[in-house]
Amino acid sequence: MKIIDKLRNLPSTHQILSDGNLSLLIREYGILIVTQSVKTVLSETRDKIKHNNTVTYDNLLKSIKNKILNTMQSSLRPVINLTGTVLHTNLGRAQLPKTAIQAMVDVARDPSSLEYDLDKGKRGDRHKHTEALICRLTGAQAAVVVNNNAAAVLLTLNSLAKRKEVLVSRGELIEIGGAFRMPDIMSQAGCKLVEVGTTNRTHSRDFDTAISSKTALLMKVHTSNFEIKGFTKNVSELKLSSIAHNHNLSLVTDLGSGTLVDLETYGLPHETTVNEALIAGSDIVTFSTDKLLGGPQAGIIAGRTDLVEKIKKNPMMRAVRPDKMSLAALDAVLKLYLNPDRLAEELPTIRLLSRDLLEIKDLAQSLISDLEGYCTGFKVVVAPTHSQVGSGALPTDRLKSYAIKLTKEKHKQSSKSLDKLAKAFRVLPIPVIGRISEDALWFDMRCLDDREHFKENLKGLVIS
Ligand SMILES: *Cc1c(COP(=O)(O)O)cnc(C)c1O
Repeated sequence: MKIIDKLRNLPSTHQILSDGNLSLLIREYGILIVTQSVKTVLSETRDKIKHNNTVTYDNLLKSIKNKILNTMQSSLRPVINLTGTVLHTNLGRAQLPKTAIQAMVDVARDPSSLEYDLDKGKRGDRHKHTEALICRLTGAQAAVVVNNNAAAVLLTLNSLAKRKEVLVSRGELIEIGGAFRMPDIMSQAGCKLVEVGTTNRTHSRDFDTAISSKTALLMKVHTSNFEIKGFTKNVSELKLSSIAHNHNLSLVTDLGSGTLVDLETYGLPHETTVNEALIAGSDIVTFSTDKLLGGPQAGIIAGRTDLVEKIKKNPMMRAVRPDKMSLAALDAVLKLYLNPDRLAEELPTIRLLSRDLLEIKDLAQSLISDLEGYCTGFKVVVAPTHSQVGSGALPTDRLKSYAIKLTKEKHKQSSKSLDKLAKAFRVLPIPVIGRISEDALWFDMRCLDDREHFKENLKGLVIS
């Protein structure tokens, strides 16, 4: 093996490129990326030699190959979510069912009837594909899909209350995260926010007295990620809608997550369904489709036909319209809701949220010995834990679950080693994401789908 220990022994970029070892990579990725990688690795190697390290030519080539593969690897990659948060916004929220994935592939590969009326042979409407199904599942008169719920709220407010006042309880002036704050959305939509009541208590009479000739809407916002407890009062949708309608105004409800089914059927806590919000008198309901609904990223605006028509005509509609792949996936997910009996089998979100506790425990147990084998110096046990729904749905409810819990064996390692361990899992071919708390690394097994795949992946684990 050729050892390089002096700068003058280091091959030139040209020599490395022309020795044939990289020809396959050049063919696949192109000369530009390969040349750049060779230059970067050579410069790193020069530094090593200056610090009295030696390298072999083989290792030099390996480093170049790794550099090329790293450059070409997307930073947007699949991961294994063992955080215990089922709908994790940072990890892409809902996992799609097979039918939705196939539907996306189909419209991605081929031309489609996205805006083409096959019956009449002329231009069609992209909003027609899902509208009837949404109406059927929610009881709404009309509906339109946009690219997320933030867009749904913005577009609704701008269409129905521009330069007018919108009344919202002070207890519902939420920040969702990622700069989605109700007061800011209001001003971006060109509306004037009128705060009603107090943080913990808002009464019907507060709304009654706040209504003026400039009022366009009353709004109810689902407090997605917190709960106010103690001496509290808020005005129900039913009451709010009667106040709104008595004044000839409309009620808009931002449901946030929104669900189409009674989650109690699947052993989960109750969450207001879109249908319930409409029956309570909301004229428009907006909600996400990648939270509890379990679909692709999109937002739905559902409710009264005249209002939905007005919203559709807003020039901003064009800027927030959904793409064909989201529409295809959404259609496939909504179709699953036509047969609620099989939803827990077919829709990953409901399946994972309603997963049997003993099944999770057995799964954790069955992986203990594998993990012990790889994680020397750490104690590996099955421990009870709690999962959460995530994405602001059911914020204070916790689901009983089991985790694999890794703790340091006494005094053996520095305090940093848990972070290092977590990092080692994150740099696996399929990164595994856990959660550090109480001096332990937790892998909640609720969302682990493919046990064999997980074990295979572990073979790449390097703990330094
Ligand atoms: C999540 C949420 C939003 C934002 O929805 P996205 O689909 O993430 O854009 C808006 N309002 C409420 C109440 C929410 O919970």
